[in-house]
Amino acid sequence: MAAIELRGLTKVYPGGVKALDSLDLVIPDGEFFALLGPSGCGKTTLLRTLAGLETATGGSVVIGERDVTGIQPGARDVAMVFQDYALFPHMNVTDNIAYPLRIKKVGKAERQRKAAEVGARLGLDQLMDRRPGQLSGGQQQRVALARVMATQAQAFLFDEPLSNLDARLRLEARTFLKKLQRELGVTTVFVTHDQAEALAMADRMAIMEAGHIRQIGTPAEVFQRPANTFVAAFIGSTPMNLLDAAVRGDTLEVAGCKVPVPVSAEGLLTEGERLVYGVRPEYTTYSAEPAEGSLGGRVSIVENLGASHLVTLEVNDVAVQAVVPEGDEPAVGDEGFAAPRRDRALVYRDGELVSA
Ligand code: ATP
Repeated sequence: MAAIELRGLTKVYPGGVKALDSLDLVIPDGEFFALLGPSGCGKTTLLRTLAGLETATGGSVVIGERDVTGIQPGARDVAMVFQDYALFPHMNVTDNIAYPLRIKKVGKAERQRKAAEVGARLGLDQLMDRRPGQLSGGQQQRVALARVMATQAQAFLFDEPLSNLDARLRLEARTFLKKLQRELGVTTVFVTHDQAEALAMADRMAIMEAGHIRQIGTPAEVFQRPANTFVAAFIGSTPMNLLDAAVRGDTLEVAGCKVPVPVSAEGLLTEGERLVYGVRPEYTTYSAEPAEGSLGGRVSIVENLGASHLVTLEVNDVAVQAVVPEGDEPAVGDEGFAAPRRDRALVYRDGELVSA
């Protein structure tokens, strides 16, 4: 097991695309770390550069005490699970799991013993003689994981490990994978474009945009205190309200209404300056009656979220959203008021969080 450290890591593809732009990142030993971001932001490139499948253009990769920047993939002591699992269709489960050991010239008896042990751990003991084509998606994923575990690498790298599973299996696999990683304690980096997955599984995560890391933090930090408007807009199952605002004394003018300055920005704002006011719909209370510091308007959309509703209010032509518990939802056309929670609202100056 080992910590992973990137120093000024840069990758420019032939043709000039800068997929990684001087990234610095430290992942402590044993951490479950997610790389999250929109399509094309550089997640897979970062993972492949860690694995040695891509050559860095600049900077370095350190795993444990060792600078592995110029070292071949096979000698890096990391194991990668690919999106499509990359199982050999003509080999049974035992041979698939044991394959990396065969490459390492481990003897047959020892390979089979190890494959059986790891297979049992992942609940594959009844399936060891089957080929991948005779397994479900979830079982194939377990074989791919077992193959990685059998190698006893210093770090695991997963590229969208759950993307081939259906919605229900995916939820099961999330819990399973997280538990497994905890038990093994092996430093693990996984790429996903599914934020719910990253929030649910990761100890910490990096949110990337166009070759840059825009924030590193725990799921709670990233959800509750996005460092910039990019992360604020990207994270959350319902997007954060991001509204133009101006400072007026001890209040903010937002969509023609007055709201109190958020707790996090108290004493940090200048009279008259223009900012972006951010509050999640989950932290915005809807009511049919006006309350102090609320944004009043007319309900234009009511979306069913299951146990709650997402209500959109048109406040002087600005859309403001609030999550409303089941049973309390208004009807389209109603007059209503959205009161942001002062302890949860945020303020952004030039796109960056204003905070003490
Ligand atoms: P996705 O979520 O869609 O898989 P990603 O975040 O993993 O995206 P990458 O695959 O790392 O993104 O790609 C980062 C950038 O590098 C993109 O602009 C992509 O087009 C470019 N890119 C990736 N691979 C190559 C390549 N082999 N040659 C040239 N450009 C590439």
